[in-house]
Amino acid sequence: MDQSVALYIVPTPIGNLGDMSSRAIEVLNQVSLIACEDTRHSGKLLSHFGITTKTTALHDHNERARAQWIVDQLAAGQSIALISDAGTPLISDPGYHLVSHVRQSGFNVIPLPGPCAAITALSASGLPSDRFTFEGFLPSKEKARADKLLALKEDPRTLIFYESPHRIEHSLTTMVEVLGADRHVVMAREVTKTFETFLSGPVSEVLAKVSTDPNQQKGEIVLMVHGHHVSDDEGIPTVAINTLKLLCEELPLKKAAAIAAQIHGLKKNALYKYGLESDL
Ligand code: SAM
Repeated sequence: MDQSVALYIVPTPIGNLGDMSSRAIEVLNQVSLIACEDTRHSGKLLSHFGITTKTTALHDHNERARAQWIVDQLAAGQSIALISDAGTPLISDPGYHLVSHVRQSGFNVIPLPGPCAAITALSASGLPSDRFTFEGFLPSKEKARADKLLALKEDPRTLIFYESPHRIEHSLTTMVEVLGADRHVVMAREVTKTFETFLSGPVSEVLAKVSTDPNQQKGEIVLMVHGHHVSDDEGIPTVAINTLKLLCEELPLKKAAAIAAQIHGLKKNALYKYGLESDL
């Protein structure tokens, strides 16, 4: 098999065309074919950079069917690039089935680094970035959205969601109800674009700003939520207590508290103190 033949995963700008990398342009010029989520949308970007490579559509509805056809092109010695409408392909965008199929078929998949709304927003949010979980879009139905947030309520990691402007008020409202009015959130809107805005504070305050200013309900949004944390006046998450109890069945409290603290990103002293007080 020709090792120089590959499927390239190429991120494109999320708003500011200056973020297109020179390597991205080089690869898009060199491959035989560019698979795009929307050929008309990407056509504008490609012509802006003078890229004349042929394009083909690869979207959620035809991805599985197209994957074998793309493998056939690779087998014929044609390198292919995958791009999405904006940002990094596969991140809340098509491409997972294709990459998986191409790898299983034994061909190279070469990723280029580049713009991704979640990572770009997180880097400037001021929220802890040592541990985070990317959750894509919250469900549109209220009950499913509340259930999803409930499942994440005690997660100690920073939570990152993509959000649409017409649902942002609903999502913030559900967050107030499920996570509590004081949970710290950061809403990053129109990142890298003219009206880039970061709103930061307790979720009830961010909701009030969004509800009273229609401009905050426009454009593209990344919503980030501070993970659950234990403070002196707050309880230790049930999930961490359960871990501690299990570990205590096999280990001395001190060791169990240290391991449980590491697993859940908590302070070991808080867990140790809890263990002593609860006679674990
Ligand atoms: N693959 C893309 C990436 O790497 O970020 C994300 C694609 S997803 C279909 C589109 C969502 O990403 C938008 O609805 C919004 O939540 C978020 N997004 C994209 N561009 C953004 C921007 N410039 N500012 C804020 N959020 C953005």
